[in-house]
Amino acid sequence: MQPLTKKVKQVERKPMTFLERLYLPEIFKGMAITFSHIFKKVPTVSYPEQTRPFAKVFRGLHVLNRDEEGREKCTACGLCALACPAEAITMEAAERVRGEENLYREERYAAKYEINMLRCIFCGLCEEACPKDAIYLSETFAPANYQRKGFIYGKEDLLIPNPLTQPEEYEKAKGERAPATQ
Ligand code: SF4
Ligand code: SF4
Repeated sequence: MQPLTKKVKQVERKPMTFLERLYLPEIFKGMAITFSHIFKKVPTVSYPEQTRPFAKVFRGLHVLNRDEEGREKCTACGLCALACPAEAITMEAAERVRGEENLYREERYAAKYEINMLRCIFCGLCEEACPKDAIYLSETFAPANYQRKGFIYGKEDLLIPNPLTQPEEYEKAKGERAPATQ
């Protein structure tokens, strides 16, 4: 076929030299490169036994926050859902009834709260939009899962443990970038 441009280059296949036909020098060269890597610092991180330090701007799994008395802070105002560019957040509001003052800080609370982690882009806008300091992105990875439904995180997955009744679990879930409780 006639070439359209003059960019075509004819490549010559040169006959192999005696050393090249032996293959051994090339094998030794390759082995030398392999052995030189033995003495270099290993860049591999054996996750999950080892973890890399997080960047300051890292945003991980969402946490629904409680106040220092263990009450849920979220008022189900919906601002986080409105701010979310991926439409990953849904919730259902409920009214607090008498006797539930120790459970919910405000008169309204989120009876259901869901985040679809397959949609989430971890932008942090929900955290910024929240007027109640009720949601933040921790320094924890969202764990892997084999099923899509495993990435729909409900309130029970997101709510931080109660600091009064489960102080150890609370500290563990809080992460290093947790906002101060109010
Ligand atoms: S981090 Fe961004 S994408 Fe994810 S739920 Fe919050 S606002 Fe939506
Ligand atoms: S997490 Fe914050 S912004 Fe979202 S519904 Fe609750 S109080 Fe409102």
